[in-house]
Amino acid sequence: MNDSITVSGLGFDAHALKKSSPGSIILCAHPIACEYGVIAHSDGDVALHALADAMLGAIAAGDIGEHFSPTDDRWKDAASTLFIEHILRLYEFKNAALVNIDLTIICEEPKISPHKTVMKKNLSRITQLPLERINVKATTTEQLGFLGRKEGVAAQAIVTVKLPS
Ligand SMILES: [Zn+2]
Repeated sequence: MNDSITVSGLGFDAHALKKSSPGSIILCAHPIACEYGVIAHSDGDVALHALADAMLGAIAAGDIGEHFSPTDDRWKDAASTLFIEHILRLYEFKNAALVNIDLTIICEEPKISPHKTVMKKNLSRITQLPLERINVKATTTEQLGFLGRKEGVAAQAIVTVKLPS
């Protein structure tokens, strides 16, 4: 794209956790075994939901709830990769090119660090972005609030996108 502009989009998502054994939390399409499960209509992948909202934000296309209503049975237990694939088709239609992803996962449990590499690889496979333009970070809230009490898991994402001017 010669004449292009660069825009950005921001996304945030949180879901409640419930004790579950055996439990599993899916983050960046990567299931992590732990003592908790996510309460959600879809697979509850907060990382992909935050990314989906960031990607929609960058092309001014609303939010994830408008595109994939939680009351629509099509999305019950749906793999959140479907949301990203749908948004990438919108990107093709608009000649939009994803440039980078920076993602932060916020939770006490599960521990994210051992899973960052596979998460980045999954994001690269799903979005076709090279690994060097994808960043996955993890933080806690120092045991404060609902995230600190392990009542939920949250994620923030920001993306940069090139659009035809
Ligand atoms: Zn969500």
